[in-house]
Amino acid sequence: MEKPLSIQPYIGRFAPSPTGDLHFGSLVTAVASYLEARHHQGQWHLRIDDLDEQRCIPGKDKELIESLETFGFQWNGQIAYQSKTVPHYRAALEHLKEQGAVYACDCSRKQIQETGVKGIEGPVYPGTCKDKGLSLDGKLAIRVKANKNPLAFFDKRFGLQAQNIKQDVGDFIVYRADGYFAYQLAVVVDDYLAGITHVVRGADLLSSTIRQISLQQMLGQPQLNYFHVPLVLGKDGKKLSKSENGPKVNHQKPIQTLLAAWHYLGQAMPDEAPGTLEDFWAWASSEWHFSAVPREGTLNAAVK
Ligand SMILES: [Zn+2]
Repeated sequence: MEKPLSIQPYIGRFAPSPTGDLHFGSLVTAVASYLEARHHQGQWHLRIDDLDEQRCIPGKDKELIESLETFGFQWNGQIAYQSKTVPHYRAALEHLKEQGAVYACDCSRKQIQETGVKGIEGPVYPGTCKDKGLSLDGKLAIRVKANKNPLAFFDKRFGLQAQNIKQDVGDFIVYRADGYFAYQLAVVVDDYLAGITHVVRGADLLSSTIRQISLQQMLGQPQLNYFHVPLVLGKDGKKLSKSENGPKVNHQKPIQTLLAAWHYLGQAMPDEAPGTLEDFWAWASSEWHFSAVPREGTLNAAVK
């Protein structure tokens, strides 16, 4: 008797921010995430990460959705919006408060820079405000007391990842002084609400995964499976980002553009290009090999 392909359900997602056009880097991530879900006969959800109003461009969410439709992506269920999920972030923060897991912080960026030890993402927050007993009423930033013990997870492409949050980052922000919930908390709550089981996303988020796992633990949520894909680099060798004018991908020839993303993901090219988007996705879903995805980002040939 043949064993079933997968016993654990697979619910994946793609979560672009409406801060610019769909550029090649986000298309690559979307393709990897979509193909992993399809390969596992799972679901794939779409979420608009529009938490940070100041960075979002009005109307870009609609354009992103149209772009994804042009490339033939099909998602399950309703599109989620982070901006509509704020009450759930608040509830999660309350839960952390009840556990005594958070404290308010009134340090300026400059103060932290002066006192902090260099960590993986700038200075390590030294815990200056931990015992000040500042009010948690939302006027100040709120930090979560970082795990003192190292945590680890297995990334599907990057392998075993370990980190000691206390030493490498310090107590980290879950609520910002400007009134927004921090990405680390929001993403954990969003994924939980949608029942996400597998996260496929850009490698720029690899180093923040452990913080998210620690929040999952504090909130009593199951740990997710992670697969980080290499970033597409611009001509300066840095991450191609929407907000830094990464060029919009070619929508006129969607199959060629998808094949470029496919090629970037280390996959073997077809002898003949599929004739329709449907053909492309059917072919790509069966030919997808996650182990061929490179670990290192490379320069995007399309960016010159
Ligand atoms: Zn502080």
